[in-house]
Amino acid sequence: MSLFENTLKQINKAAKTMNLNPEITDYLSHPQRIIQVAFPVRMDNGNMKMFTGFRVQHNNHAGPYKGGIRFHPQVDMDEVKALATWMTIKCSVVGIPLGGGKGGVIVDPKELSINELERLSRAYFRAISEFVGPHIDVPAPDVYTNPQVMAWFADEYTKKYGNRKLGVVTGKPLEYGGSKGRASATAQGGVYVLDEYVKEHGLNPKEMTVAVQGFGNAGSFGAIFLAEMGYKVVAVSDSKGGIYNTDGINVEDTLTCKHEKGSVIECMKECGMHKENYENCKTITNEELLELDVDVLVLSALENQVTEKNADKIKAKIILELANGPVTPEADEILEAKGIDVLPDILVNAGGVTVSYFELVQNEANYYWTEEEVKDRLKKIMVDAYRAVSTHKKKHSCDYREASYTNSLHRLEGMINAKGITSN
Ligand code: GLU
Repeated sequence: MSLFENTLKQINKAAKTMNLNPEITDYLSHPQRIIQVAFPVRMDNGNMKMFTGFRVQHNNHAGPYKGGIRFHPQVDMDEVKALATWMTIKCSVVGIPLGGGKGGVIVDPKELSINELERLSRAYFRAISEFVGPHIDVPAPDVYTNPQVMAWFADEYTKKYGNRKLGVVTGKPLEYGGSKGRASATAQGGVYVLDEYVKEHGLNPKEMTVAVQGFGNAGSFGAIFLAEMGYKVVAVSDSKGGIYNTDGINVEDTLTCKHEKGSVIECMKECGMHKENYENCKTITNEELLELDVDVLVLSALENQVTEKNADKIKAKIILELANGPVTPEADEILEAKGIDVLPDILVNAGGVTVSYFELVQNEANYYWTEEEVKDRLKKIMVDAYRAVSTHKKKHSCDYREASYTNSLHRLEGMINAKGITSN
């Protein structure tokens, strides 16, 4: 099953539950525009190499298309269509006035020098530049792209169209129009959601264990925040594998070590919460990490990690989806039957795009907020979204994913009806 088909399945399921007008379901099942580009990059050895990139503009009913750009060898059009659709749904879950889009380039950035990465980033953005703009379509970071790449994008756009058009991308460096709190926003938003869930269910973070799959931007900040709040982080992993310590892992030290050595499995000595118990550390595979007996499993790597093949082996009580699409619809059913609550991507990781929205607002106003202001506003939006989803969950007696969809689709329905589906 393709990822885009999975997305449509999720939409259709919720649409049926809430009796959504079938015309609206149909309207939201088609990306409005699909862009594919091929562009040359001069490599350091003097040879030219062709690359393929995509930008899918799913829907702009609520506002400009919005969503990240990923650089990854496995990027394909189907994946980008799914991710773009989730952005439309996600922005509506948190009620921000933005639509949905997503982009990607088929490339393994780890194989590029920094100069090649810059040339590739600029070339891709030039290739899509006539389709983006501060009020049209606003890209942002995603898997293996970062503030530096966003700075190259913004600079390339400005070179072509003149003026400082900072609002053409978000997730920029602080020194170049970025927002305080954007780098940690995805994880921060997810933690606010988990916190609200924990309060609602009368749980105590200090008695809860956590395993984190994926130690990139979202996963590493997520692990740090959860450890700060008193959760015991017992396992973390990256694409090469993971480390596990029942006594708890020192997340900050592990992160410093990963930056030095390249992978968490090289960090056995750093992973003990206290120097005397690092002997208890062991390496585990990503598959083993998913099946650990923990309270919270944080999924912050790629899509399709929990499928019908391993869902019945999951022992966690709560799954927090910081990544997009890590649990398939088939797995969802198995997890629901097992009584595992999946806090879904379109709610949990919406903090990233929410602070992107704040960045746009700050760029437009040319007035910048303190980190506290960003966090306070983010918290309010995430907590309100969680509560609205929780209400939908009770109303429809469904899981959190379906409730997030009904909440989102309900809002979209209101906006679409206000204007009418046909725009001309
Ligand atoms: N790539 C992030 C996401 O999947 C952020 C998108 C944005 O900030 O526009 O939500």
